[in-house]
Amino acid sequence: MTMLSEKNPLNRTTSVAIKIDKVNKWYGTHHVLKDISLDILEGEIMVVCGPSGSGKSTLIRSLNHLEDYQDGVVSVFGQPLSRDRKSHDVIHNAMGMVFQNFNLFPHLTVLQNCTLGLTWLRKMSERDADKMAMQLLDRVGIAALASRYPGQLSGGQQQRVAISRSLAMEPKIMLFDEPTSALDPEMVKEVLDVMVDLSKTGMTMVCVTHEMEFARQVADRVVFMADGEIVEVGPPEQVLVNPEWDRTSEFLRHVL
Ligand code: ADP
Ligand code: MG
Repeated sequence: MTMLSEKNPLNRTTSVAIKIDKVNKWYGTHHVLKDISLDILEGEIMVVCGPSGSGKSTLIRSLNHLEDYQDGVVSVFGQPLSRDRKSHDVIHNAMGMVFQNFNLFPHLTVLQNCTLGLTWLRKMSERDADKMAMQLLDRVGIAALASRYPGQLSGGQQQRVAISRSLAMEPKIMLFDEPTSALDPEMVKEVLDVMVDLSKTGMTMVCVTHEMEFARQVADRVVFMADGEIVEVGPPEQVLVNPEWDRTSEFLRHVL
């Protein structure tokens, strides 16, 4: 694994990891994604923020086809995604996702949660899978908890397991949907620290979060959504400090 290699800002590739091209989605008559277009570059850290109900989850879930949309195309590393086998393979090989509520298997240990994908999908031997998972758990500081069950862990620890489980599949892109918003405040930092570390490895990351300090620290660009639209996109110093839109400033007054 080469995940700990440092990101070299002078050697950033500019190829497109995810291309979102005029995506529209309706729930019944409710237009929840309105003509969304955005290129996310390889190695880019994109933070998505905006008020509740603005379409952030719908958008991020459209990137790996957890949500269908009626119109538009999402391409990952040049492959337009649809419901076919090839798209399925691209998504499973390239993309990992971390959810607000961890989504761990409660009847499996921490270690088993992390090795399941490796032994089942990747057909890795149990021994190799254990070894790889233990390295990842160690990296996020919870190797000592490997034989516990999720219910015996704090929220912050569970979320770190969920991140390790995703990383075990060696994704090139990680999607985070409000990974810290279900956590008690004292646990937010331990999860953000893991994400900050990850951001230094060259991983492409799309993070829905309201942690504006995280955005300031690691985001290459911040997207602000309102009402199903991208109303603002740009570097954090522009979007967070000097937003062009009233809706952005108003939102920022609430979260900062
Ligand atoms: P956010 O993540 O920004 O809070 P969502 O993407 O979850 O917003 O939701 C966008 C809009 O779509 C909201 O108005 C929400 O009520 C609506 N919505 C989300 N999921 C569904 C669904 N399964 N059925 C109908 N409407 C939905
Ligand atoms: Mg959401």
